Amino acid sequence: MSRIAFIGLGNMGGPMAINLAKAGHQVHAFDLSADALAAVVAGGAQAAASAAEAVANAEVVISMLPASRHVEGLYLGEGGLLAQIPAGALVIDSSTIAPASAQKVAQAASARGLQMLDAPVSGGTAGAQAGTLTFIVGGEAAVLERARPYLQAMGKNIFHVGANGAGQVAKLCNNMALGVIMAATGEALSLGVAHGLDPKVLSQMMAVSTGRSWATEVCNPWPDVLENAPASRGYSGGFGNDLMLKDLGLAAEAAMAKGASIPLGELARNLYSINSQRGNGGLDFSSVIKLFNKEGA
Ligand code: NAD
Repeated sequence: MSRIAFIGLGNMGGPMAINLAKAGHQVHAFDLSADALAAVVAGGAQAAASAAEAVANAEVVISMLPASRHVEGLYLGEGGLLAQIPAGALVIDSSTIAPASAQKVAQAASARGLQMLDAPVSGGTAGAQAGTLTFIVGGEAAVLERARPYLQAMGKNIFHVGANGAGQVAKLCNNMALGVIMAATGEALSLGVAHGLDPKVLSQMMAVSTGRSWATEVCNPWPDVLENAPASRGYSGGFGNDLMLKDLGLAAEAAMAKGASIPLGELARNLYSINSQRGNGGLDFSSVIKLFNKEGA
């Protein structure tokens, strides 16, 4: 069993850290939020008073933070965590951040004699709790083999997609498609309801037809179509509109870096931005459907 430092214990990191503790690892956890830390301690981890204290003697360091600035702020710079992690340790960042940031931190880690992977996840908060996340990994194959037992304690599928930063690129591709599909599904359901159709029947038909997707079958954006979808609990929980907006912004930056065209991704980014400006930034991203109807979704 290994000594693991886990930093960032929010909606995703909290249950991930608890799953590592359940697998028998000694998890030293830290978060700026005392409530987030307390929930993970109740789940079997030990509280650290700071990130530096968490990484003392650590064999593995895992971070799950909101965005690039948090990850660079944690690891880099004077007093940054990389200078305090024991030489030879394995560092895994599972946050969704800019590919360029992931490469920058990995290079600095390597210069310090540390092995690092970017390993963003898919599967949402339900996947984090159930330990069924998909890990999308960038870094050296041998480093992934070292990380595999830890990732398996938190997830079900592991994809090695390339060198450092590639995990983030692949994650952004997935989320850009998801953002577009959710907006398109919201638009389609709203059109049907405007013509008097029952959103439940329309969704059931689409779920077995060519318009089917995760948005029709699992996270349907119309309230009360699916009991367990965020839409049926006032769009609470799930994957925040503003996190999707962040990911679409990262996709736009990645597209510009290569001169790639992402017309639908850019349109979707603007739709989630409008939804955010209307006060829905903290709601699940399926609330983007609110832009398309006045029937009450
Ligand atoms: P969250 O906001 O719930 O949690 C982030 C946590 O990081 C917070 O508890 C915050 O206090 C903590 N934090 C921030 N800076 C810190 C620091 N310097 N030191 C210690 N703790 C710090 O976010 P989340 O939903 O858990 O998402 C985390 C990452 O996972 C994001 O990059 C997100 O895009 C990605 N992601 C989220 C989901 C989802 O469904 N929520 C799914 C896949 C990927």
